[in-house]
Amino acid sequence: MITEPSPKRSGLRQEYDASARLTRMPTPDSSRLTPWVEALANAREDGDRSGMNTACKQLIDLLSDFYDLPPPNLRVLGTRPHRTHEGVLTYELFGDYEPKSAKIRLWTRTAINKQWTTSGVMLSTLCHEFMHHLDVARLGFSRSYHTVGFFERTHTLYQASIGQPHYPLAWHPPDADGSRMINWPAMRRRRSA
Ligand SMILES: [Zn+2]
Repeated sequence: MITEPSPKRSGLRQEYDASARLTRMPTPDSSRLTPWVEALANAREDGDRSGMNTACKQLIDLLSDFYDLPPPNLRVLGTRPHRTHEGVLTYELFGDYEPKSAKIRLWTRTAINKQWTTSGVMLSTLCHEFMHHLDVARLGFSRSYHTVGFFERTHTLYQASIGQPHYPLAWHPPDADGSRMINWPAMRRRRSA
């Protein structure tokens, strides 16, 4: 995970900085979310795409209700769109969000081997794309930049969904262009602490 660099234009930078500063937010009670996370894991286990769709839709509806905004449309699709270069995978898309139509798309199968995505990856992608929706539809961040705050809020949502306590993400110091990268070894230490 890496943040976008801070935009040069001051109008855009205002939105970027406000998003970066907003690192915490309230979340629905975990007990409302975890049953659907379990249902997602079970549907994934059974290779049941319509069950995965139902579980994701329920999660999205619960979250939209909690944050008091219209739920985004959801499409749960098959193999991840991807690109290869000389037989090597160079890009694959886990999910996306289209602000104009408020549509989230999630893909359920890996690019090359077409294996089922783990339910943990599905859930973290869902939280990520839902955060774009929340940015645009509720928080006034129309460009929905990938800032430190964006990733922290997404992480907060993910932890609440799986019924685990929140801990802050660990970051490397900013690069010259202002972008920051997750410090995975430090994250593992925090998770096990
Ligand atoms: Zn994104």
